[in-house]
This record gives sequence, C-alpha cells and structure tokens, in this order.
Amino acid sequence: QPALVWLRRDLRLDDQAALYHTLKQHSRVYVTFIFDRDILDQLPRQDRRVEFIRESLVELDHRLREHGGALIVRHGWPRETIPALAKALGVSDVYCNRDYEPNAVLRDRDVAQTLSIDQIGFHSYKDQTIFEQDEVLTQMGKPFTVFTPYKNAWYKKAGLSDTDFFVRPYPVTRYLQHLAPTALATGVPTLADLGFETTDLQKIGIMPGITGGRERIEDFFTRIQNYKVARDFPAIKGVSYLSVHLRFGTISIRELAARAWREGGEGALGWLNELIWRDFYFAILHHFPHAIGHAFKPAFDAIAWDDNPDWHQAWCEGRTGYPLVDAAQRQLAQTGWMHNRLRMVSASFYTKDLGLDWRQGEAWFAKLLLDFDLSANNGGWQWSSSTGCDAQPWFRIFNPVTQSERFDPKGKFIRRYVPELAHVPDKYIHAPWTMPAETQANCGVLIGRDYPAPIVDHGEARQRTLARFKAATSE
Ligand code: FAD
Repeated sequence: QPALVWLRRDLRLDDQAALYHTLKQHSRVYVTFIFDRDILDQLPRQDRRVEFIRESLVELDHRLREHGGALIVRHGWPRETIPALAKALGVSDVYCNRDYEPNAVLRDRDVAQTLSIDQIGFHSYKDQTIFEQDEVLTQMGKPFTVFTPYKNAWYKKAGLSDTDFFVRPYPVTRYLQHLAPTALATGVPTLADLGFETTDLQKIGIMPGITGGRERIEDFFTRIQNYKVARDFPAIKGVSYLSVHLRFGTISIRELAARAWREGGEGALGWLNELIWRDFYFAILHHFPHAIGHAFKPAFDAIAWDDNPDWHQAWCEGRTGYPLVDAAQRQLAQTGWMHNRLRMVSASFYTKDLGLDWRQGEAWFAKLLLDFDLSANNGGWQWSSSTGCDAQPWFRIFNPVTQSERFDPKGKFIRRYVPELAHVPDKYIHAPWTMPAETQANCGVLIGRDYPAPIVDHGEARQRTLARFKAATSE
C-alpha cells in the first residue's frame, strides 16, 4: 500500500530517518510539506525563514522529480490538511520525524488521532538529534539537568571509541525507486502565493537547501581544527554557520557528529561538544516543557524585572551605547544570525544591565534568528539570565566592556556593524564615552549625538541586579 512522508524540519533526501523507513517498507511513497498556517499567520509578511524553507523545497522537489517522485506542497492547517491528503492519496500510513516542541507534539497527536478514524497509521522517528527523550538518563532513571554529566552519559551511550562510531547514515538512496509521482504535486507555491514578500536572503549570502548546507559543511571542515581557539571571536570566521541548516534539516546531525568524531582533535571534539549541548536542550524541552515561558527554577519566576520599553527598543535597535552589544544587535537585524559569544553578552546585558525580563529578549531573538529553535533559544536565554538549568550563576555578571576587550580586542567586529565608530582609536572603542572631547572631534563622532552615551551605568546596574536576585532567592 502507498504511504505518505510528511516533511517538517528535515528538508533533505540523504540520511533521513522517516524517508528511509517509509521507502523501505512501501513501494509507492508520496512526500509532502505543509506551510503551517498556525505558524505562518503570526509572522511578519517578510520573513527570511519562510523564504529559506521555500527555496529549500524548490531544490527538494527538483531532486524528488529526478528520482520519479514529486513534492506535494500545501498551505493550510496540518490537522486538516494531512488527513485530507492521506485520504485523497489512499495511503495506509503517514510517516514523519519527531518534533519536540510542545505545540508540535500536540499537533502530531491530533493528526494521529484524526488519521486513526480512517485506520491510517501515524509513525514518527528520531532524526534531528543523536539522542532524544529518555535515551540519556541518570543512573536513577531521571533526566539530567546539568550538562557535564549529561555529556559524559551521552558519550558512554554512544559507545565512542577511536575506531567506531555508532551513528550510521540511513541509506535512503537504496530505495529511491519507490518514490511515486502524483497529479497532486503541483509545484512549490511562490512567496506571494503564501502571502509573503521576498526578503534579502540572497543578498545577505544565505544559501538555502541541501546545496547550501553541503557548501557550508565542506567549508567548515577545512577549518574545524581552529574551532576551539577561534570560536569566541566574532570578527573571525571561526564557527560553522550551520545552525540554520540544522534548524531546517537540510543537513544531517548524524553526518556532522560522526564526521567530527572521526576527525578528532581539540577543534573537532570541541565542536562535537556544541552538538551535544543541542541534544541536551532538546532533552530539557522534552522533559521540562514548563520551562517554556517560565523560569526553569521556579524561584526565579519571582524576580521583579523592570519594565522599560525605551530601553527594550534601544537594545533591539543597537542603540545602548555599549558598542559590542550594539554591534551584536545590528548583526542580528542585518543578517538574521548572531555569534554565540555575542548572544551570551547581549542576553546578559538585557537581563542584568537593563534588568528586563528574559522572555521579552527571547521573543526578539525568536522573531529575527534564522536558526531560531525553541529549545536552544530558551536554553540560551535562561542560561544567560541565570534562571535556567545549569545556568550562569546569578552573581556572575558579564561586564560588557571587558567582554568587548577580550573578544573583539581591536574593535574589528564593532567597526563593521557600528560604522559611526569606525575611526575611534582602539583605546576607546570598547567604551567610547570615555573619549576626550578633542578625540571625539578628531574621529568624527560626538558621543550623545552621533552615537549614544551608555543608557545605563554597568556598575550601578550590577548592584541593582544583585539586589533583584537576592530578593527573589531569599523569599
Ligand atoms: P557552531 O559554534 O558552529 O555550533 C554548531 C552547532 O551546535 C550549532 O549550529 C547549533 O546547532 C549547536 N549549538 C552550538 N551552541 C549551542 C548551544 N549553546 N545550545 C544549543 N545548541 C548549540 N542556537 C540555535 O540553534 N537556535 C537558537 O535560537 C539559539 N538561541 C540562542 C540564544 C542565546 C541567548 C544563546 C546564548 C545561544 C543561542 N543559541 C541558539 C546557541 C548558539 O548561539 C548557536 O547555535 C550558534 O551561535 C549558531 O552558530 P553556528 O552554527 O556557527 O554554531
């Protein structure tokens, strides 16, 4: 009997769990992607992610057609569209890869229930993580809430040794002849069909799809050995820039983890460590969905955050007067991506210098990040604001100036994104408000006119934050 594969965040053909299992078991396989109106209707009409997905689907449709299949693309509500499509195609089963976000879990449950009314099966597989759900637990059978022991257990479970790696790619190509054409596959809708406008995705150099992901992998693996030393410096090309591809599954996490392991060495294993953080936050999301919109540690829900829309706006627009924070925020707005070091600095600044509620900062990142992932974004924000599991202790507060001196010593990154400061001498680039009036005049930037004076004093803000956390923890 024919079957249907429902793609979501797994937009590739190679090493794809659900696709492999379906093709292996069924001799007529259809493939679909639904532009989910529950998600799309809430987005601004220009959204780089929608364009990234659309472009990736065009490539996927093309590749499926080369193998005798085609992609059925719909714009609607999966709760209705998937069962309707399954019936129209006369399939016995629908297959997909698991999604761990609470809304997606509910959606899948509803879809499975509706399908069952017509005796259509619903099956899901692990694809976007190495380990998921209950696969890595403490000896007591409980979920880990601290990363290092989780990582140790992860490695143990993986059974890694110098000669062996448990992650094998799914050999999808063996069964591609089971892909089936259908008249229901009428091409990928345009952005305008979906009610969206074109973005600057191409202009900012984001290559979507399987081809874009492959290019980034190959580029990164030529420099992976530098990762450990280069990863913290935003002016250097030190990280992989693979997050958007991991987000939409245009590349396989198994391939990346296996390749990093085989490569070995400080750089590659340091990078593998980050992929394990990714698994860790997916597991946290699965086990502790209460931490969406709430502090992971409930005591910290009592924190009395400030409410200051002007400061929030200044931070969003990169006008806080702290050059590294402003450069970071402008990088996010201009490119849809922000360097990890800067995500930490900027989120810390938001919560501990401005004293604003991490949930609002998290929402801003969620709106702009191309790689937005509920698990990692929530995890990162709760780490930075000290409300999360295994978070930065609340009394350890990043100083935005010393972070800038350490990680952008010559201000190269700052100058790229804050051109007003392009000619400021290195000595003042991290704290331009300390520049004498004469130097300001000489380098063509008057602080307070051409670039803002700091909107908060770090020393005072630090004291307010310590008091805020003390009050919440002693209650
Ligand atoms: P690399 O350094 O090359 O890392 C490789 C991959 O490992 C990344 O693509 C990502 O999938 C994973 N990874 C790396 N660091 C982390 C981490 N701390 N937690 C989970 N996974 C990680 N990452 C997202 O993918 N989506 C988000 O929405 C997101 N929001 C964040 C918010 C804050 C406040 C912080 C501090 C971090 C956030 N991160 C998020 C984690 C990290 O900053 C990005 O994954 C990374 O910057 C992406 O760039 P890269 O692919 O070049 O990373």
